[in-house]
Amino acid sequence: MRYTSTRDESVSLSASEAILQGLSPDGGLYVPTSIPEPDASLSEMASMDYRGVAFEIMKKFFDDFTDEELKHCIDSAYDDKFDTPEIAPLKGVHGAYILELWHGKTIAFKDMALSILPYLLTTSAKKNNVTKDIIILTATSGDTGKAALAGFADVPGTGIIVFYPKDGVSPIQKKQMLTQKGDNTHVVGIVGNFDDAQTGVKNIFNDTELKEEMAAKGFQFSSANSINIGRLVPQIVYYYYAYTRLLKDGKIKEGDKINFDVPTGNFGNILAAYYAKQMGLPVNKLICASNENKVLFDFFRTGTYDRNRDFILTTSPSMDILISSNLERLIFKMTDNSASETKKLMDALKAEGTYTVTDKMRDVISDFYGNFATEEEDDAIIKEVFEKEHYVLDTHTGVAVAVYDKYRKETGDDTVTVIDSTASPYKFTRSVMHAIDAGKYDGMEDFELVDELYAISGMKIPQAIEEIRNADILHKRVCDAGKMKDEVKDILGV
Ligand SMILES: *Cc1c(COP(=O)(O)O)cnc(C)c1O
Repeated sequence: MRYTSTRDESVSLSASEAILQGLSPDGGLYVPTSIPEPDASLSEMASMDYRGVAFEIMKKFFDDFTDEELKHCIDSAYDDKFDTPEIAPLKGVHGAYILELWHGKTIAFKDMALSILPYLLTTSAKKNNVTKDIIILTATSGDTGKAALAGFADVPGTGIIVFYPKDGVSPIQKKQMLTQKGDNTHVVGIVGNFDDAQTGVKNIFNDTELKEEMAAKGFQFSSANSINIGRLVPQIVYYYYAYTRLLKDGKIKEGDKINFDVPTGNFGNILAAYYAKQMGLPVNKLICASNENKVLFDFFRTGTYDRNRDFILTTSPSMDILISSNLERLIFKMTDNSASETKKLMDALKAEGTYTVTDKMRDVISDFYGNFATEEEDDAIIKEVFEKEHYVLDTHTGVAVAVYDKYRKETGDDTVTVIDSTASPYKFTRSVMHAIDAGKYDGMEDFELVDELYAISGMKIPQAIEEIRNADILHKRVCDAGKMKDEVKDILGV
């Protein structure tokens, strides 16, 4: 299995090299040159646990890892850090199946990939005789940051620097990051939004002068964002897992097509679902759910991607994104793997903030259905599902459920549908409680709301919340979006 760059076809790397580098020096993303098929059948996978399915999928993509290396990574990641042995349980809710992807350490779906990435990365470093310290640079809209910090804290030979939009994350998300322990962890608030943070990180990656200065001091950069193939591939696993659980429980027959509905921001999670479909998983539609930053909805309807619009701060902040990085990997596929065509479109995005794909390219889009939910629709569905079914959705999952209703209404399709639930409601308690009863809860303190949520739902308060209740703030750095490079140099003493 080789990996190439979406912007330069002459690039050819092994999996471990692509994981180590994170982003291609030409600014492109690493993509597999072909999509493999799993060796095991779906019914064989139905009798495996999460780790077994993970091994079947990942070994096809990370084929320069030995079985022992890969099993070590998988076993170390998907252990009792997760609060259920199922790792990703499915629940029947609202006429669909909710796939709870937030049973890991930081109660967001980012844990699904970020609990394994540190192992993949340190194994890759060993395989490639890397002796430098690996510095993980990460932009976060709130959840990646904490999940990456938790994954890399005190991992020997690594350091991690997280940039988050100072005023663009939930109070719990912020406290989770600012209380992170570990001598190798650094958290910086930026005056700007997530797109500014992500662009700043990409610029630092592409800064060859800085790269040389860093190398002289014994450091090299890598990324924990979903632009790293080491994050994308572990996310393919739970689509196979969800399908094979439905099969095991007799809800579907082998070969039946199902829909996946994904609350989307940077397009990493839904792209993993698309790769699963390419691998042969029977998928009907991929439902791409956006919040009011509905740039993807417009793209799927018109073929024009246009980021020239106001950035809206919503109650689903992890989806507040106008430049969905991973869409570049889909565009590459849409151009029949043409790096030059992909580069042209990405250059246009950078220069003018917009590009339009051809009609031929739009064929690929037919795998997707896009729609969005407003803030009011999100609040309304959280309230409705709580009142009718006594199940509490977080604000991101709320967007996906609201969009599922629109999809069913518009298409009449009643195919079995799995909806990704990407965060525990405890991570967005303030917004969730506002949706359920604004009059009653809006005046309360953050942790009072946590206790109220427990009182009305009976859902166990996660360890991730208990441990930050009284924790000290350890990180106080703030900088302008334009000064991120200086901040990195200051932190590393370069
Ligand atoms: C990151 C995140 C998303 C968006 O996922 P992408 O892979 O960026 O599309 C949705 N919900 C939550 C809670 C997240 O943390």
